[in-house]
Amino acid sequence: MTTFWCEQAWIDDRPQAGVRLEVHDGHFRSVLTGVSPRRGDTLLPGLTLPGFANAHSHTFHRALRGLSGTGSSFWAWREHMYRVAGALTPDSLYELARLSYREMLAAGYTTVGEFHYVHAHPDGTPYADRNAMGSALIAAAADAGIRITLLDTLYLSAGFGAPLEPAQARFDDRDVDAWIARVSRMRDTPGCRIGAAAHSIRAVSPAAAGRLAAWCRAEGRPIHVHLSEQPQENEQCVAALGTTPAQALADVGFWGADTTAVHATHLTGDDIALLGAAHATVAVCPSTEADLADGIPALPELQHAGAAIALGSDQNVLSDGLREAQSLETSLRLSRGTRENLAPAELVTALTRSGQHSLGWDDATGLRAGALADFVTLHLTGLRTAGCALTELPRVATADDLTSIHVGGVDRTPDTPGAIAAELDALCRRLRGEDHAPREEDRDD
Ligand SMILES: [Zn+2]
Repeated sequence: MTTFWCEQAWIDDRPQAGVRLEVHDGHFRSVLTGVSPRRGDTLLPGLTLPGFANAHSHTFHRALRGLSGTGSSFWAWREHMYRVAGALTPDSLYELARLSYREMLAAGYTTVGEFHYVHAHPDGTPYADRNAMGSALIAAAADAGIRITLLDTLYLSAGFGAPLEPAQARFDDRDVDAWIARVSRMRDTPGCRIGAAAHSIRAVSPAAAGRLAAWCRAEGRPIHVHLSEQPQENEQCVAALGTTPAQALADVGFWGADTTAVHATHLTGDDIALLGAAHATVAVCPSTEADLADGIPALPELQHAGAAIALGSDQNVLSDGLREAQSLETSLRLSRGTRENLAPAELVTALTRSGQHSLGWDDATGLRAGALADFVTLHLTGLRTAGCALTELPRVATADDLTSIHVGGVDRTPDTPGAIAAELDALCRRLRGEDHAPREEDRDD
């Protein structure tokens, strides 16, 4: 058994002083508040929080970070993304994911939801092991030390029944039955859970999405979908199906407490009511939505209707869960001219409990006896955090203020962030077809 003593720990939606965590076999055996440290305890000065959940990641997009100027629209950016997707192999995906996941761990994410749709060779020919790419992601997570939910993604159409474009050939599963046959060969492990996603209403028909959701529900697996990220998707959906994406999915029984809508940026009042009544989760990805100029979802209305809010890093333009959470509130303040839309405790819930739930890790949802021993600690005396009220810390701290990260009670704090950065730099440039040497435009002459 390992024991930790926290100066402060986030329990029952607030900081509590003097908390002793007893960890056995990767779980909390007991969590005691208002106690003093004992000999042998690992001391954790600062504020300890449950581990963060990254509810929506496409890890290979990490190779595109810093290329925000490559297109003036979402659709131009997508063309660039397809070029990187075309260059991936199981080996290079493993390498990129392992490094990206270590970066995520350093940012306090102890679970990642990988929305994974690159399944086959670039020409669409399946790998001998049809799950080679998904297995590469699972292995990368295990080697990095982060928990993963592989949201294996069904992707069948370029848009409302149109055949896939050549750049999308490696996403193809032909139909839902082929997807079920392939995914049924994968198994949960202590660090990995298999979930599912319908890519979007553009890429999956309502009938196929409904069948996928029914299979997931019978199997007890979470299911996600990209929803209404861009107005263009809504317009095309109304033209093709006569209704909004949220309603089209509701009509086939898609929504429930086990489903997550990613983005949900452009919803009607009726769409919000549908998601709320189903107690679905909405995974907001603030840094990506800002980068792609998507817009700001109606978070207070969604929450009021009954939906839960989670957070994702999506295209991984940023790996910092705290900054993502802070963006939820700051974007609402700027767009609505009102303060106190989401309280600090609600930001922490989005980053922890709601995100873990959306990924099927309800056993990793807090500092409590019996839960998985995933926790992160922020120091209180850094330049950013010095003098802060404890309850306001989630509004102020960033990933740079994390002093330790534990997954299953094991210390996963990166000790060589510089080495991770150097490897990531070389790999991203290689995947983009660049030399390792400085680029012409970077030179000082
Ligand atoms: Zn996405």
